[in-house]
This record gives sequence, structure tokens and C-alpha cells, in this order.
Amino acid sequence: MIKNHITYNPFSDWQFAFAKAKESYIWDDRGTKYIDFTSGWNVTNLGWNHPDIQKAMLQQVRKNMYAPMWTSDPMQEQYAKTLLSYMPTGIDVVCRATGGTEANEMAIKIARAATGRKKIIGFKDTYHGQLFAALALGASASDTAEIAPLVSQFIQLEYPKTTQNAKEDEKKLALFAEMLDKTLRDRDVAAMVCEPEMVTGWGSCWVGVPGLIKTIRELTTKYGTLLVLDEVGTGFSRTGKLFGFQHSGVIPDMLTFAKGISNGGAAIGAVVTTSAILAPVQSQTHLISTFGWTPVACAAANATLQTHVREKTWEMAERKGEVIRIMLQQELKHTGLVKDIRGLGMEIGLEFTDNLASKVAEHAMKHGLHTVMGGSAILQLMPPLTIPDDILAKGLEILISSVKR
Ligand code: PMP
Repeated sequence: MIKNHITYNPFSDWQFAFAKAKESYIWDDRGTKYIDFTSGWNVTNLGWNHPDIQKAMLQQVRKNMYAPMWTSDPMQEQYAKTLLSYMPTGIDVVCRATGGTEANEMAIKIARAATGRKKIIGFKDTYHGQLFAALALGASASDTAEIAPLVSQFIQLEYPKTTQNAKEDEKKLALFAEMLDKTLRDRDVAAMVCEPEMVTGWGSCWVGVPGLIKTIRELTTKYGTLLVLDEVGTGFSRTGKLFGFQHSGVIPDMLTFAKGISNGGAAIGAVVTTSAILAPVQSQTHLISTFGWTPVACAAANATLQTHVREKTWEMAERKGEVIRIMLQQELKHTGLVKDIRGLGMEIGLEFTDNLASKVAEHAMKHGLHTVMGGSAILQLMPPLTIPDDILAKGLEILISSVKR
């Protein structure tokens, strides 16, 4: 949709003009106040317009706003150090990007250059960014027909989502392992790129079968394929851990970050990896980004990470996520309108038996709750992790009555 000279993404036809936002609330241009259950799709995990992040950015604006890519500003160095200190051992280098798409494209380039291989594996119907290689990881051919060809040598595997039945899941994992082994066996795959534990980027909120990431790690290691975990959505406390890789304890070769990284303060993304992987090929990988990691964006990201750690925000996500799931189960499961309630932490998919998502979202909006659709039959619930319990309860009340109506 194009409105007032701006292109809008087609999540709904009742989009509104955003006027201001604070903590768990947003306001439209008519002054109507809404409880927010989106965090701008996993961006403002600490709540909108967080004062500590504003303060850090303003201080940096007064000091220095820009450093060119052949230099580094002390704030960039400081943020690199802080971010790396929370990464698995061995991950010791950062590439400066402006967002999630760019970070994933950088990771793919590094993987090809470092392994000398061309093939890349992703999961079908997942989202890793809007550019050609990132789209090739998970977008369907029918969705990209008009802009095709994307990038060649990409393989999309079926995502093994949990059935929540241990026996079934074991079987599913074994079948997946067999297929992955077959795909990797010729030792011509440079990297496998996926989100840790669940899918946050596509709107499905699928959760993987238990053991999925461990199995992927074992097989990628066996065949010399690099594992890239896209933490653009799972990172920064969203799924109940500071980072998604902590659920499995798996150590990937690269991780990519964006979205919640600066809590909405500035455009910034990152690839982190080992210097053993990157150093030999860095000069051949074109990792050049004019606006990647401006000092002001780094100040925002540094304050964001410090706040997550200080407040242990991931614990809020785990506790309140459980509250949301239990409440939705109790109130909606028996209605016959809901097919599934799934997710991790405060990344929750509410899937309907019918294409109700737009109607429910529209009704909720009229009653003061902002949600976003993951698809025609699913709402993807991502409230700010810091949302106070009483506001969360009020939002859930609106959501539940919007479904039952
Ligand atoms: N990866 C995931 C998992 C995402 O959810 C997104 C954005 N929805 C991206 C990558 C792309 O990030 P960006 O929009 O910052 O390019």
C-alpha cells in the first residue's frame, strides 16, 4: 500500500499514523492510546523510547555522530567488547552492519569465502531479510516470482516443527537428521542459516522439535559446513534467554543480530564470528557498510545490552510468556476457534482454525490493543518484555474478548 508518499508493508488494511510511544503504549495521530503487543516486531523489547537509551544516544550525539568505515570510534570499540563478552568462547570478531538483512548477507558471503563452497541451506517459509540472498534462504518461489531470479545454489529444507508429542518429535528429528545428512554429505555446502529454537521472522512462530539445533550443529560440524544462527528476532531476551543459542548451548560459527539490538534507537546490525574464519578471507568479502555501526547507534546498542543484563529482562520474558500462554489456553482453547498456542518466552503465536486474524486484530485495535498478524490465521504476539503485569492483563482481556466476540 502507498499512502502519503510512503510504502507500507501489507500486514493489514487498517494501518494507522503513529504519533508517539512510551513504555508499553503507543498513540495514533488522533490521540488514541493503545496497549502494544508487537514491540514493532521484536524491536522495542525494553519498551518504547527507553530513557536510558535516549540518554546514551544524546551523550554520543554531543561527542561524535559518525566515524568512517576505515576507522573506529571508541564507542564502537566499547560496544564490540560488550557484545562479544556475552558470546560463546571463540567468537571474537564483529562485522558492522545496518540491520538484519545486511548482517545475514554478510554471513553468507563470509561462509562462501571461508569454505570455498557455494551451497547454502535455509528453511522453507522463514524470513531472514529482504535482499536476494536473504530471501533465497526461506522465501517461496511463488512469493518471489516477480523479482526472480534470486541467488542460485540455495537449498530450502522443510522446518521440523514440534508436535508436542515426544515420540512423534523423536521420529521427526530422526527423519530430518537423515535428510540433512544426505544434503551435507558431498561436503559442498558452505553454511546452514536458521533461527535458534523457533521461527520468529515469518509469522508462523513454529517451535522446532527438541534437539533440532544440536542435531544441525553435529551434522554441520561433521561435514565442514558453517552454522549461522540468525538471532535478529530471538536475540535480546525475547525467547526467555538473553540470546536464543543459550537454549541449546550450541556454539555456532556465526551469529547475526539486529532489531532488539538498539531497542529501536537506531539502525544497526551485527555479524559475530571467529577471527579464524574471517581473517583469511576478510579482504575478499566486501564487508563494507557506510552507515554500519555509527557511534550513536552503538551508544544505543551498548545501553540496550547493559539494560538487558542489569534488569535480567529474559526472566521477565520467560515468566510473562508463561502467563500469556496459560491465560490463552484457559480462555480460548475450548472455543473451537483456536488451533494452536505456541512459542517461547514472549514470542507467541496464536493460530486460529479459520482466517480470523485480521478480524480479531481489527476488533482489538478498536478496543485499545495493537497486535500484528503473522498470516491470515495467526497473530504473532510480541509485547514489550517490560510490560507491567496489570497492563499485560488488560491487553489479554481485550485480545480474548476480541477472539470470543
Ligand atoms: N532475520 C529475522 C529473523 C527477521 O525477523 C528479520 C526482520 N523481520 C530479518 C532477519 C531482517 O532484518 P531487517 O529488517 O533489519 O533487515
